[in-house]
Amino acid sequence: MNLAKFPRRNYVKTPTPVEYAANLTKLLGGPEIYIKRDDELPGAAGGNKTRKLDFVIADALAQGADTIITCGAVQSNHCRLTLSACVKEGLDCHFVLEERVKDSYNPESSGNNFLFQLMDIKSITVVPGGADMDAAMNKVADDLKAKGKKPYIIPGGASNALGACGYVACAQELLEQCFAMNLNLDAIIVPSGSAGTHAGTLVGMIGNNANIPVHGIDVSRPREVQEEKVYALAQQTAELCGVKGGIPREAVRCYGDYYNPGYSLPNDGMLEAVTMLARTEAILLDPVYSGKTMAGFIDLIRKGVFKKGQNVLFLHTGGSPALFVYMKEFRDWFKKA
Ligand SMILES: *Cc1c(COP(=O)(O)O)cnc(C)c1O
Repeated sequence: MNLAKFPRRNYVKTPTPVEYAANLTKLLGGPEIYIKRDDELPGAAGGNKTRKLDFVIADALAQGADTIITCGAVQSNHCRLTLSACVKEGLDCHFVLEERVKDSYNPESSGNNFLFQLMDIKSITVVPGGADMDAAMNKVADDLKAKGKKPYIIPGGASNALGACGYVACAQELLEQCFAMNLNLDAIIVPSGSAGTHAGTLVGMIGNNANIPVHGIDVSRPREVQEEKVYALAQQTAELCGVKGGIPREAVRCYGDYYNPGYSLPNDGMLEAVTMLARTEAILLDPVYSGKTMAGFIDLIRKGVFKKGQNVLFLHTGGSPALFVYMKEFRDWFKKA
């Protein structure tokens, strides 16, 4: 594997910290818990998309683009970080936002939506849940081309094979950190959404023959559907990076029980996990991705899937701006807890 063959913008200047979560480990009484702080990546309020955009924006610039079009949910962290990169690079930026929850787009809302406005997004096209996002982005692109612009489309979550290379690089970074720390990991826990994070991390581990299992916690799809999505992207990513021998299907593992009642909709496990991390480690998770992923991890510890004597690393992918959209749910939870 030689990731240096791809153009990059070098958004990731230093490795993100790997921290031992002493208080959380003690409270849960299970494995030794380590947290990789990808929530501290550069970009406006950081997060996992910075690693993928490092490769994808470089490709856009190499192709002579002056405008980026991308898509996401109404509180998309990916859209926020794409806009952040565009501001720095001097590129125009346009969004297509999907109302995965009916009527959920509110231009007055807080969190990432406010940051879209603060960083001066050029246009937002809102489409209903289940709409064809590629078609909607192509339409925006055609309109811009007619005006003489050179648009480049980034798929949702920047989760194509090139974007996933950002997480292949993260896996390599992590392996070096673990070597320096004498830390022998038994497992890695990642959120599994548009799948670039999960697929890239897995390809990086397999490409390095590390033999460390990568467990995805689903944030939007049932296990069977998500595993196929991760598997397909992992194969494309392995091909692109030159990982020989392919990706074994059984290396793709997802847990699908923790995102219900649906993508971005709060549940008790998420409320407990976000509150627990804030009050033990002063770490801010988010309600849509890292909170539900941590809820899954906590449940799997309680069920004995991960246990004392093991070292397990949780990849914190960021997303905390979305917390402020869920204040009411949290305040109700504080009263109950
Ligand atoms: C996008 C996102 C994820 C999911 O990562 P994918 O690569 O889309 O699977 C997880 N956490 C946060 C905070 C995100 O914004």
